[in-house]
Amino acid sequence: MTSETVPAEAARDFIRDIVEADLAAKRVRTVVTRFPPEPNGYLHIGHAKSICLNFGIAQGFGGHCNLRFDDTNPAKEEQEFIDSIERDVRWLGFDWGENLYFASDYFEQLYLWAEHLITTGNAYVDDTPAAEMQAMRGTLTEPGRNSPYRDRSPAENLDLFRRMRAGEFPNGARVLRAKIDMAAGNINLRDPVMYRILHVAHPRTGTAWCIYPNYDFAHGQSDAIEGVTHSVCTLEFEDHRPLYDWFLEHLPVPSRPRQYEFARLNIAYTVLSKRILTTLVGKGHVAGWDDPRMPTLAGLRRRGIPAAAIRNFIRRVGVGRANSAVELAMFDHSVREILNKSAPRRMAVLRPLKIVIENYPEGQTEELEAVNNPEDPAAGTRTIRFGREIFVERDDFMEDPPKKFYRLSPGKEVRLRYGYLITCREVVKDAAGEVVELRCTYDPATRGGNAPDGRKVQATLHWVGADALHAEIRLYDNLFLRPDPGADGDVFADINPESLAVLRDARVEPALAALAEGETVQFERQGYFCRDADATPDHLVFNRTVGLRDAWAKVQAGTAPAAQKR
Ligand code: ATP
Ligand code: MG
Repeated sequence: MTSETVPAEAARDFIRDIVEADLAAKRVRTVVTRFPPEPNGYLHIGHAKSICLNFGIAQGFGGHCNLRFDDTNPAKEEQEFIDSIERDVRWLGFDWGENLYFASDYFEQLYLWAEHLITTGNAYVDDTPAAEMQAMRGTLTEPGRNSPYRDRSPAENLDLFRRMRAGEFPNGARVLRAKIDMAAGNINLRDPVMYRILHVAHPRTGTAWCIYPNYDFAHGQSDAIEGVTHSVCTLEFEDHRPLYDWFLEHLPVPSRPRQYEFARLNIAYTVLSKRILTTLVGKGHVAGWDDPRMPTLAGLRRRGIPAAAIRNFIRRVGVGRANSAVELAMFDHSVREILNKSAPRRMAVLRPLKIVIENYPEGQTEELEAVNNPEDPAAGTRTIRFGREIFVERDDFMEDPPKKFYRLSPGKEVRLRYGYLITCREVVKDAAGEVVELRCTYDPATRGGNAPDGRKVQATLHWVGADALHAEIRLYDNLFLRPDPGADGDVFADINPESLAVLRDARVEPALAALAEGETVQFERQGYFCRDADATPDHLVFNRTVGLRDAWAKVQAGTAPAAQKR
């Protein structure tokens, strides 16, 4: 069995089945979905699942998908997050066209609907202090208790609610609650809060409001205003669905959306909680939202992961209703699958060891032809410069090699990629006994890498010439040490203190000076790398996107245990 390949046909899942059936039965004429981020942080790869699903359904069934900011909590929301979310959704390859909305655009309508519920006897103003109200909600096994304010008249409620809006009361003094059922089995139906007082300016509505609707009172009605047909969200909202439906049934809304839930994306060794990601940034555990170790789309992009690789991964994960954590190896595999086809090959030496080729004439150099991408003949070739001094990887030399070490060691012959066969003649050490240089000879008859006498050479090493450029290389490891960060309580105790290793003395072939930010290449035998945003013309910096070893392919082939790291 080979590694699984990406299905070419359109994705199929239970939600798409529902949409298809609704269209076939003419319950729905045009499919409208939405992606509803709260602008209180950057998008992460979990959001990518929701984006691919919502926009993918709209594309697949000829409808459209709205981008709607769920900006009902001004205390934590910022314009920076709105901008980053728009940038990231576009980067991921999706387009909302004209359909950009903000829940805050509906504040006036939502307010009027709240008055409607008051007038019809379905909502009341409660003065109970928050802690007491919490205690009166009951538990999963015990019913809640009615508030003493529950039977206020509609007229009194309307008066108090209008005064809440007018700013007469301090934060937390009163709330507006839906009057449903304090004994309901589903705690979400025990007179949920619809509005709270919050004297906080909003990024979009400024100081126009000092009461703000809760998520549950805003979401379904926003869907209805926009004509959303299928409101697709993650499973933790399943228990909110009866409330979603209750509001829509008790209000004169212009359309009747339906909510469907799917399992959220979880990935081993990865945290996808905005609250924790916010703390990682705020406390300086990472360099920012776009730190390449972050699971944010901005971080993944900076690490060199193409949007196509993220879409490939999400397609492979699929859409279901069972919560589980996906292996990191599967993510890496999905990235390699894309990069293997698209990434140009280059040579770079991460930990250089100098070689002097004693029988190569001083002052002479020559050009060798190197293939840009063996997977893509159209990518053509480039030239690299060979001469008397070159650098190879320190790891490719052992003075005292074990039996199966085929690379460089005293007396051993190896092939230089695109070049000659060379033999190690002498090891030069410094006063501390450290190897600082190898003296080698080359066989001029082996240009291109083959000996005319057909003698066998096992190893082919990558190398760079004397014209190589200095570069800093950043190698990333998992940000967390365990597959289930925080399972013991403190997620920050599980942070990997060695998630970043910096190599400051790498040498890269000169062509890499021209590598654009956002373009990912393969450093032969080392992995995929991209230019980091910190790079300047005088100081090249590269991030390792992902290594070459594909643990997932082995998992698929049944030759490796599934529960491995990477
Ligand atoms: P919070 O609400 O705690 O700020 P959130 O991750 O739910 O965090 P939202 O901005 O509300 O953030 O999410 C926008 C949409 O993305 C929601 O519909 C949510 O269900 C979906 N989403 C969030 N995390 C994931 C995930 N890990 N997998 C799939 N979908 C997700
Ligand atoms: Mg949310």
